[in-house]
Amino acid sequence: LNGDQARQSAYQEWQKQAKRQEYGPRSNMSIREQRESLPVFQKRADLVKLVAENDFLVVVGETGSGKTTQITQYLAEEGFAMKGVIACTQPRRVAATSVARRVAQEVGCKIGEEVGYTIRFEDVTSNKTIIKYMTDGMLQREALVDPDLTKYSVIMLDEAHERTIATDVLFALLREAVIRRKGGLKLIVTSATLDSAKFSNYFEQCPVFKIEGRTFPVKIFYTKEPELDYISSCIETVIDVHTNNPPGDILVFLTGKEEIDTCCETLVDKMSLLRGENPSIAELIILPIYSSLPSEMQTRIFEPTPAGKRKVVLATNIAETSVTIDGIYYVIDPGYVKVNAYDPKLGMDSLIVQPISRAQADQRSGRAGRTGPGICYRLYTKNAYLNEMGSNTVPEIQRQNLSYTILMLKAMGIDDVIEFNFMDKPKQNSILTALEELYILDALDENGKLTDFGQRMAFFPMEPLLSKTLIKSIEFGCSDEVITIIAMLSVPDIFYRPREKRDQADKAKARFHDYNGDHLTFLNVYNKWSDAENSRVWCQDNYIHEKSMRRAKDVRKQLIQIMDKLDRKERRPRSSIVSCMGNWDQIRKAFVSGFFKNSAKRAAVHDAEEGSYRTLVENTPVHVHPSSSLFKKHGVDHVIYHTLVLTNKEYMHCVTKIDPKWLVTYAPRFFRSVEPGNMSSKKKNEKIQPLFNRNDPKENWRLSKGRR
Ligand code: ADP
Ligand code: MG
Repeated sequence: LNGDQARQSAYQEWQKQAKRQEYGPRSNMSIREQRESLPVFQKRADLVKLVAENDFLVVVGETGSGKTTQITQYLAEEGFAMKGVIACTQPRRVAATSVARRVAQEVGCKIGEEVGYTIRFEDVTSNKTIIKYMTDGMLQREALVDPDLTKYSVIMLDEAHERTIATDVLFALLREAVIRRKGGLKLIVTSATLDSAKFSNYFEQCPVFKIEGRTFPVKIFYTKEPELDYISSCIETVIDVHTNNPPGDILVFLTGKEEIDTCCETLVDKMSLLRGENPSIAELIILPIYSSLPSEMQTRIFEPTPAGKRKVVLATNIAETSVTIDGIYYVIDPGYVKVNAYDPKLGMDSLIVQPISRAQADQRSGRAGRTGPGICYRLYTKNAYLNEMGSNTVPEIQRQNLSYTILMLKAMGIDDVIEFNFMDKPKQNSILTALEELYILDALDENGKLTDFGQRMAFFPMEPLLSKTLIKSIEFGCSDEVITIIAMLSVPDIFYRPREKRDQADKAKARFHDYNGDHLTFLNVYNKWSDAENSRVWCQDNYIHEKSMRRAKDVRKQLIQIMDKLDRKERRPRSSIVSCMGNWDQIRKAFVSGFFKNSAKRAAVHDAEEGSYRTLVENTPVHVHPSSSLFKKHGVDHVIYHTLVLTNKEYMHCVTKIDPKWLVTYAPRFFRSVEPGNMSSKKKNEKIQPLFNRNDPKENWRLSKGRR
């Protein structure tokens, strides 16, 4: 059975099934009732008609009105699936998987059959798949291989208001694809906010379809003074609502996993104290939700709260629009969000916590008014809301590092990236910075043309620094090890560090430490785990998350498959997977050849507090994160790091010691030794300096055009 036939017969089977579900013994009224109670259900016929009659459609609807879970099903039920797969993109992995699971449940199939999902390193679809949820990043990659996206009959770009880079790029790519396929491909763009005119203009003045949600008024409270410590203020507010307010669940917006875990732990402690003193206080069910949370934990937030209890969900931004939890009456909003941003002044990417926009604040408070009249506690002043917050969220494309995106575009043959038809153009400067980065990584030549090496880099679904490291590791004879390390880097949570056993956990972790740094420490952990007889017991003994290790193994397997595919494409007989057999310097060299820009040098004692480093690129002060195996280690003068995270200081995460000479050897386009004569003899006087002049506009302009 080829793909088309399999999907079509799966669809016919589904049609019969659906009838049985409606009238037969298998009927499941509760799911049907739920589906029919959603606001979008009233609009079903109009919506389907509009899709049939138009190639482009913008849908604007209140969050929770059923756009994501229902529209795909309506279109499948109306026969669009006969002509191709119906896809729906999500900016976040958690949203893609959680929504796909829900829809599979509604349809009554196993996930991966008629309804499936694809996120990076995880493809849960089959040739029977009719409805496919996926991250926007994955669809962007598919567009690289098949620009017409021939597999699909309808593509829904969901959560368009989030304006992720991948969605923005897809706007432009899909616009062209829809026009080329002349009615064969339909594009639906959905958004939770009302800047629909702009979308409609961009997509050939297409119709805008509005779905009004059922919303109830939400009363908003502000703080009188700015909050100094929003975490403890959050906890106080939760306890206060729980002990004093009528029933209804609570949703708290925090910025990330660490914050959420800390808050959960504190709340658990406080609640057991309180209920110890006063047993009449109702139980509070405390649930976290963030993207690295295992999926069975994620689904727990949707379980209805038992009578007499109250639920509090501590969430990242994911609960703002992409995931709707029923039964929320109270929202607590400290007003912050964590974003990945590129700072051209620092010359690097960094995760930063920043104030949300007014549009986001309104979305957040709106979450309290879906089931009945609600209350939102804003932990900031009214003045901050009115005068300090931006009105709308800045599109990601205008604030993030674009090298991956530009590499994709160049690999699609789009050479003149400055002229690319973005809905909102990125700043020219950030395009130039990306071009510069790709040039120093050897992905582009002096004229901005994609090199063969760049072509290979684009083959991997990962940031250019990583794909370069991976490809270089073949030359260094250590791809086997580098694949393991990259797999370990891609799973967020390896080490288990419960609060009450922090010391033991840290001691256990120290046993894996490699004196050269964290990349090799990861390799140690993985190798020891692979050798262990009983994975579960071993992980328990060593304070390691077993789930994360299994996930790393999975990612590793997939990376090997991609490498094999590249071998076949380039007609190499031998596999590219080679091991350095313990010669671990090779591994560090491979990472230097990709991450040389993320390099830092120990600061002279007089100009920094102890243990501080300065980046080689911009001389910015940075610190080794306390979780690193190189924390407070002496005699480590030069390092590279994986990421930079800004909290109270700029912290380097995943840090590894390097020999500064490697910078000159493996990144000759970027570094040179200032005193070349002294290089080998006088290590101490050796100065390594970046070579590329980012301020020479002529140089950069040439790169941007990709022409000779
Ligand atoms: P929209 O995309 O318009 O914001 P959705 O289609 O995501 O709306 O949500 C419609 C309904 O489906 C909501 O009431 C939501 O609570 C419910 N829902 C979504 N995902 C799940 C899930 N995993 N489990 C239970 N209910 C869910
Ligand atoms: Mg949605």
